[in-house]
Amino acid sequence: MSRVPIFDGHNDTLLKLYRQRQDGGPGFFDRSDQGHIDLPRAREGGLGGGFFAVFVPSARSSNTDSPSSPPAPIELGYAQQVTLTMAAQLFRIESESGGQVKVVRTVDEIVGCLESGVLAAILHFEGAEAIDPNLDALEVFYRAGLRSLGLVWSRPNTFAHGVPFGFPASPDTGPGLTDAGRELVRACNRLGILIDLSHLNEQGFWDVARISTAPLVATHSNAHALCATTRNLTDRQLDAIKESDGIVGLNFSVSFLREDGGKDPDVPLETMLRHLDYLAEHLGIDRVGLGSDFDGTTVPREIGDVTGLPKLMAALAAHGYDEASLRKIAHENWIRVLGKTWKGT
Ligand SMILES: [Zn+2]
Repeated sequence: MSRVPIFDGHNDTLLKLYRQRQDGGPGFFDRSDQGHIDLPRAREGGLGGGFFAVFVPSARSSNTDSPSSPPAPIELGYAQQVTLTMAAQLFRIESESGGQVKVVRTVDEIVGCLESGVLAAILHFEGAEAIDPNLDALEVFYRAGLRSLGLVWSRPNTFAHGVPFGFPASPDTGPGLTDAGRELVRACNRLGILIDLSHLNEQGFWDVARISTAPLVATHSNAHALCATTRNLTDRQLDAIKESDGIVGLNFSVSFLREDGGKDPDVPLETMLRHLDYLAEHLGIDRVGLGSDFDGTTVPREIGDVTGLPKLMAALAAHGYDEASLRKIAHENWIRVLGKTWKGT
C-alpha cells in the first residue's frame, strides 16, 4: 500500500547534528537511535520533507521547546556564526546525499520531491538574531535559500519579544514588534519569506496580523484551550489564522499536548487527536498540518521518533478522517499556504 508522504512544519535536526558533530556522534545518513530524525528513519516513517530549523542556542540546553534556563538575548555576531555553520550543514547534506535530499526554494520543487521520493528541506530560521536591523543579512540569506523565518524564538531580540515558557499562562506576555520588527515583516512579504508565529508573544502576533499580507502561520503550536502553555494558540488567534487562510502545524511536544503541561512522555495518541480535532474544528480541515518539533523536544512514547508517523496517520484514519482529509493534513495544506506566501512557483 502506498503511503501519503508527510511534509512537516518543524524539526530541530540541524541543531542535533550541530551538537553531535561537536561530540563526534552519528551523521544524517547514519541510522541511529539518537534523537528523532536521520535519513534512513525519515524514509521508513514516510517523511517527504519539512522545515529544517536553524536555531542558535542561548546555552547548552537539550530541548529547544523547554529550556532549563530562562532564555536571554544573544548577539548578532555569535548568531551569524552559528547560523552559517548550521545552514552549511544542510547544504552539505544536500550535496553529499547523491540526490536524496534537496533544499527547496519553490513550491514546484516541493511537489517534485514528494512525487519522486527526494527529501525536501526548507531552510528555516527559528529566531531572527542572525539578521541585522538594516536587513542586509536577510537579502543574502534569502538568496542562499532562506524561505521561512520565525521573528523570535522564546527570547527577546531586535525585532520582537518571544513568549517565555509558562504554564498555565497566557501568551500575552509583553510588548509587540519593534519598528525594526515591522520592517522585517514587510521585507519578508516583499521577498516571499514565510513568517512563523510559533514563538511570538500575543501582541507581536497581532502586530504581524495587522501588517502582513501573507497567510498567518504557526509552524509548531497547539490549542491553548486544551493545554494552557504560552506556546499554544488562543481561540482568537486561531480565528485570525483561519481568516487569513493560514495554517497551524500540530506540535508533538508532550508539554504542549498534555492538559497538565507536564513532561511525562506517556501521552496517548488520543491526546494528539484531541488537539488535531480542535484545530480542525476552529481552523477548518484546510488549515491544519503537522509540526512535529522532532529533535527539539520530548514527543509521546507511542510516536517515539519519525518512524512513528504512520501510527499517527493510522490513528487519524481510525478516528474518522477520510483519505482526502489525511492528504490535506499530511502535506497539501502546507503546499497551498507556501504557494500563497512564496514568490514564484
Ligand atoms: Zn520551537
